[in-house]
Amino acid sequence: MIMNKTILLHKRPKGKPTLENFKTVDEEIPTAEEGELLLKTVYASVDPYLRGRMNDAKSYIPPFELNKPIQSGIIAEVVDSHLPDFKKGDFVSGMLAWKEFQTSTGKGLNKVDPKLAKLSSYLGILGMTGLTAYLGLMEIGRPKEGETLVVSGAAGAVGSVVGQIGKLLGCKVVGITGNDEKVKLLTSTFHFDHAINYKTSLDMKKAIKSSCPDGVDVYFDNVGGEISDAVLANINKFARLPVCGAISLYNETEVPMGPRLQPILLTKSATMRGFIIGDFASKFPSATRQLAAWLKDGKLRSSETIVEGFDNIPQAFLDLFEGKNKGKMIVKVGD
Ligand code: NDP
Repeated sequence: MIMNKTILLHKRPKGKPTLENFKTVDEEIPTAEEGELLLKTVYASVDPYLRGRMNDAKSYIPPFELNKPIQSGIIAEVVDSHLPDFKKGDFVSGMLAWKEFQTSTGKGLNKVDPKLAKLSSYLGILGMTGLTAYLGLMEIGRPKEGETLVVSGAAGAVGSVVGQIGKLLGCKVVGITGNDEKVKLLTSTFHFDHAINYKTSLDMKKAIKSSCPDGVDVYFDNVGGEISDAVLANINKFARLPVCGAISLYNETEVPMGPRLQPILLTKSATMRGFIIGDFASKFPSATRQLAAWLKDGKLRSSETIVEGFDNIPQAFLDLFEGKNKGKMIVKVGD
């Protein structure tokens, strides 16, 4: 019998998660009943925000339950359909369980077209990642031609798109990332003006100052913590700071104390605003159209790290916290 592997949240992590926090079990493949689809997972997205859902804490999205499957963005193939809007062979994207096969009522699923773009890109540049980069930057960062844009987590899924859009809009773009290979990727492949390795730079405040002699107008923050403290020390009057993520703090058991931000924001008349991508849901269709057009015209590049195999989903997730990905981290589960 073909078994259906499923990955459960086994233990809640304290600090940095490990493989011990996950458990893989075998279940039977379910059958689609009337009003249902049977889906086969093709690609699974792993994302830093899933770390927050592993805690038993109230947030903007409910926590995962112990001994229940983890969920994330999934691209799946319809292998059986009892719904008129879907047929066998269609591909869908949605928030689904880490299972090889699962049934669905179709609620919350969107059809995706493998002829328009490669399937994995619907989890990355044409999915949540691209929308987060585009809408966070345009709605909160509001960059203008000639301004200086700094992005942290710059070689990752969101960051690499933010920097590319900044260049398309005529900004000077400086990226912050965690190794020299990524520094090179940012400046050569993505045409950032400068990139800084935060792991080897001895004085981040100085490094940012020397890469941004005219100061920082927009700071797209993916990481928080000390890196962001150093950027904030270099902001210009009327700077805009979209707070997208704080990965450097997700595994902390006690949030470390940083500098008090109020005097900086006050004296610089700066705007720092957090956002969750769902805040901009009404703008998803127009944003997706713009991203797809740039992608089609070769103005934006999609960058992905594809890990093979269902069993490797938890490790791929853990690797995000070690910076092992370039661009969007995606697990390829089947053909
Ligand atoms: P990435 O592809 O950027 O992967 C995470 C990257 O973070 C790693 O590759 C690593 O790169 C970097 N990183 C890991 N640990 C640290 C650390 N301690 N300090 C600094 N950098 C670190 O992930 P995403 O693009 O998917 O997400 C980026 C950020 O955006 C995350 O914080 C995420 O939570 C957030 N996000 C927010 C959304 C929203 O709606 N607000 C939606 C989607 C994402 P490096 O080698 O450079 O260290």
